[in-house]
Amino acid sequence: MAELKLEGIGKRFGAVTAVENVDLTIPDGKLVCLLGPSGCGKTTLIRIIAGLEEPTTGRLLLDGEDITRLPAHRRNFGMVFQSLALFPHLTVGENIAYGLRIRGANRSVQKTRVDELLDMVQLPGLAGRHIAQLSGGQRQRVAIARALGLAPRLFLLDEPLSALDAKLREAMQVELRLLQQRLGITTIIVTHDQREAMTMSDLVVVMDDAKVQQVGTPLEIYRNPLNTFVADFIGSSNLLPVTVAGRTSVDLAGQLLTTPAISMDIVDGGPATLSIRPEDVHVLPPGAEGENRIAGRVTFVRDFGASVETHIRCDSVEAISVAAPKDRPDVACDDEVTVELPPASCVVLPR
Ligand code: ATP
Repeated sequence: MAELKLEGIGKRFGAVTAVENVDLTIPDGKLVCLLGPSGCGKTTLIRIIAGLEEPTTGRLLLDGEDITRLPAHRRNFGMVFQSLALFPHLTVGENIAYGLRIRGANRSVQKTRVDELLDMVQLPGLAGRHIAQLSGGQRQRVAIARALGLAPRLFLLDEPLSALDAKLREAMQVELRLLQQRLGITTIIVTHDQREAMTMSDLVVVMDDAKVQQVGTPLEIYRNPLNTFVADFIGSSNLLPVTVAGRTSVDLAGQLLTTPAISMDIVDGGPATLSIRPEDVHVLPPGAEGENRIAGRVTFVRDFGASVETHIRCDSVEAISVAAPKDRPDVACDDEVTVELPPASCVVLPR
């Protein structure tokens, strides 16, 4: 059991606030991604968790025990950083056994454990190889095996896959996720790649500007973003300027649209942003009547093979629709069309 709680964690470097007032629970056995753009504070936050940085405010509780001032080497956390920090002059086996040796394990225990760990990361029989003789993906696996060698209470990874090419990276995301689920180890991963976060996580923590913007499952964050930053950062979204026209309706360029209940934080008659995913925007023939349908004109079409993207201008706003090839609208640039924004797919956010 290893549940980590962050209470009011903050970090200032002189005049810079790197992390501000973070309250967060990392549940036992789950994989949580810290996701955000460069400079949002995610590395600082994972370094605080690792014990490599002392927070300016707040405390860390591991299974209820206050570990805020516990030195890094006494936390028993496994860590993998972007640089991997493998020892180039040692073999794979010596790298993996390093922590075990420091802890005083005898040679035969070290060998058995190294073989177990190499099997686990799918590198059986490579103990005698030198680090320089490995591919990028294999080095990654060695770093993971080394970090897991001491059965850590928490597994921390900072951009662990960013040095790999796109294909290998996707394969490693799946592999790492399967390994984490098999071991049931509480894991925190820093990434700026939203696809990576969506692929791997039980929970995604979206950060921007030193603060946590939203915490949720990948699907919750995708379907119900709390603000325009999250809506735009996770996947792509149409963010359309509207005026609130009631508790379940907005005015988009002079047309009334029905929406799910609008948060009371957004005032009637005030400005707001309507967020809708491109795959939820439907392109219909001109004159098609019905709820949340408005007239528009096609400005651009592009076909990616696996999907078709259509841009439509409706008065002063432009929306993008993405459809699967079988639902391809039969339209070309300059055609008049009707755009449908289904009420259940609309999310009204503060401007
Ligand atoms: P990246 O993805 O680029 O690594 P990040 O989200 O991990 O970014 P951090 O490295 O945590 O962001 O940095 C957050 C902010 O704190 C940035 O403005 C950064 O310049 C600042 N910062 C980080 N470490 C220090 C330091 N040791 N001294 C001064 N400022 C720092």
